[in-house]
Amino acid sequence: MAVTLRKHNKQFKSDSVRLAFLVWVKFSVYGGQIEYRGCVLHTLIGRYTNIQGFSVKSLLLIIFGSFAILPSLAIAKISVSEKYDFYEIYPFSKSEILDSLNNKTPISKSGEKFHGYAYSDVKWNFRWEYNNQSCWITSVNMTVDTKYTLPKLGTSVDDVNEIWNQWYPKLVEHEKGHHKLAIKIAKKIDNSILLMSSESKCSTLEKKANAIGYGYMSELDLMNVEYDQHTNHGETEGASLFSYL
Ligand SMILES: [Zn+2]
Repeated sequence: MAVTLRKHNKQFKSDSVRLAFLVWVKFSVYGGQIEYRGCVLHTLIGRYTNIQGFSVKSLLLIIFGSFAILPSLAIAKISVSEKYDFYEIYPFSKSEILDSLNNKTPISKSGEKFHGYAYSDVKWNFRWEYNNQSCWITSVNMTVDTKYTLPKLGTSVDDVNEIWNQWYPKLVEHEKGHHKLAIKIAKKIDNSILLMSSESKCSTLEKKANAIGYGYMSELDLMNVEYDQHTNHGETEGASLFSYL
């Protein structure tokens, strides 16, 4: 590949000029990708949120050839997945439902039992480009992976079914409410990083981009608290079994 490497000229400052500059100076652009992750664990009754250590998962420095030096428009992508983990219970009468749930649920915190939860893993990664003068975001990828832990009825008894069919969909609906909040925040992170101004240093750009992510994860934390306060952990939405017993 024929390459002409020339020193950059500081008088090129505007975007349009930079574009021309990039075409002109080959092999001077590199890009990077760093992935950070944040996790939010939500329980139905009483909640616990944990933003894990934001580890640098990968760092790639790529020297692009001349074919890659045209800056593309910034792009965004959000991937969403939902998974379910069920624990089975076997109540043979209405009065056994609560005990069955409490005995079989794998969800507990500080000695308290919970019947369902949603765990949302919100991740962001972004790419940037640098031209020896400034560094700017070219793309952002978001993922929201939510895993629900929920009970599953292993018996078929009329009065149990009657209660289950009223309660269970409400429990799921409440947990999905938390998942929706995670998606809402992922969209905000995505949009805000995409709209960032360029920086003279990529390290500054990265720090600012991640600060945006962390900031919104804290907001998600608050939104989950408010959602649970507002619904009394789903009770006002019919997600509390006590309402049906
Ligand atoms: Zn909740």
